Amino acid sequence: MCIFCKIANGEIPSATIYEDDDFRVILDLGPATRGHALILPKNHYANLCELDDEVAGKALIVAKKIGTAMMNSLGCTGFNLVQNNGEEAGQTVMHFHIHVIPRYDGGERIVAWTPGKTTPEEMAEVAEQIKSAL
Ligand code: AMP
Ligand code: ZN
Repeated sequence: MCIFCKIANGEIPSATIYEDDDFRVILDLGPATRGHALILPKNHYANLCELDDEVAGKALIVAKKIGTAMMNSLGCTGFNLVQNNGEEAGQTVMHFHIHVIPRYDGGERIVAWTPGKTTPEEMAEVAEQIKSAL
């Protein structure tokens, strides 16, 4: 059993803020901001590609619930959902999870990238490449 399996199923104690039949939501041990939470399915899925469709649908509803509660309780003025898949994407725990990161006025906005450049030709090529695998 992986560490998030043990936490999600209550074998390792955690700062739990929400629990239902499918999920446990805990506070992150290394919070990006005050209230940073992790939505953990109780069953093990390594990443989004492996996630059961029904659980995937429910996960976004839980994210909505948690984000709304944060907005109504913590004084944050926004929040990010972050979900990493694969080491190259920054995933360090190979049990699917969604980060819910409250954002506060004047705080940093960490989820960011430098906008690049592309061409219509390249966009068409990339679009075809992805569509061919759907
Ligand atoms: P990721 O990089 O998307 O795989 O995120 C893993 C997250 O899990 C990091 O933000 C860690 O701080 C957090 N984390 C790792 N172990 C624990 C734990 N035992 N309890 C709570 N959060 C944890
Ligand atoms: Zn697991």
